[in-house]
Amino acid sequence: MSIAHEFEYERAATLAEALGWLAKPGTMALAGGTDLIAWLRDGAVTPKRVVDVKGIPELQGIAKERGGRWLRVGAAVPLAEVVESELVREVAPELAEAASMMASVGVRNRGTVAGNICSAVPCCDCGPALLVLGAEVVVAGKGGERRVGIDDWFLGPRKTALKLGELVTGIRIPIRAHWGAFAKLKRYRGEDLAQASAAVSVSEKGEWRVALGSVGPVPMRSPAAEKALSGKDAGKLSAADFEQAGEAAAQEARPITDIRSSETYRRLMTAVLVKRAAAQAVARRAGKGVELGVNVMEED
Ligand SMILES: Cc1cc2nc3c(=O)[nH]c(=O)nc-3n(C[C@H](O)[C@H](O)[C@H](O)COP(=O)(O)OP(=O)(O)OC[C@H]3O[C@@H](n4cnc5c(N)ncnc54)[C@H](O)[C@@H]3O)c2cc1C
Repeated sequence: MSIAHEFEYERAATLAEALGWLAKPGTMALAGGTDLIAWLRDGAVTPKRVVDVKGIPELQGIAKERGGRWLRVGAAVPLAEVVESELVREVAPELAEAASMMASVGVRNRGTVAGNICSAVPCCDCGPALLVLGAEVVVAGKGGERRVGIDDWFLGPRKTALKLGELVTGIRIPIRAHWGAFAKLKRYRGEDLAQASAAVSVSEKGEWRVALGSVGPVPMRSPAAEKALSGKDAGKLSAADFEQAGEAAAQEARPITDIRSSETYRRLMTAVLVKRAAAQAVARRAGKGVELGVNVMEED
């Protein structure tokens, strides 16, 4: 299927150039294009102009910031690089794991974490991972740079805190000793989106974070699941503790029935995914289960 709608294509070489284009009404940023091209083809969006931001120097690279307290993932970095990065695997294993389970190698070679959270569909896999990581989104605009906490980023399906004329330049992830895991259910092997997903992390100090995908209008934290796991020695948690957390998350989830799954099934599977991800985080804490993506669930 071709794109019927006509639009101008601009390739920005600098951040200033991109912001100049984005200030003009009807302009959309294009990173990997794995969502945007599909939307253009379907007529879901009809911009006057598309600005390719993939070559902007400020949007490149994965590196620790000066001071060593944050890891920055550039907005143009392909998901495949995020999966392979030793730094991401060390600082943000749940993000590496979520990215490793997205789409296919071809899509991961083009798509980006920033594009994923700017698309902001309820099933965006980077959402739950970034929520448990406590990430910040770095946004550039005419007035300079601002940072948006990931808890304040998702405003609704396909709605984010990004304002007209702004561009995401990167994602900042706090560096803190913790262990995490991401688990996801999709209908079949290969390029399908999640029916339900969960990210879980536990810090060195025993702080638990649990976040869910595809079971609400936006990726969401589950305070009830976090409470169920808190206050106990992480090394001594039992299968019953993980199950209790899963049940709490399932109750807190706000799933709908749609083409991919029913509300009831999503709720049931949320319980399973939280249980598995929590157990995986604890296994990693004990130095086991470090391989990424081993707990992916598929029906075939
Ligand atoms: C076959 C297939 C399978 C897929 N499987 C999955 C999956 O398993 N899980 C999943 O979560 N997603 C999946 N996706 C969706 C998609 O690949 C991801 O959402 C991807 O991360 C989007 O990144 P991108 O760089 O391609 O974004 P683009 O398509 O370039 O852009 C997406 C949106 O974000 C905006 N945008 C992009 N970059 C910026 C920026 N720096 N600043 C401001 N706005 C920006 C664009 O204007 C657009 O609105 C799949 C897509 C396909 C085609």
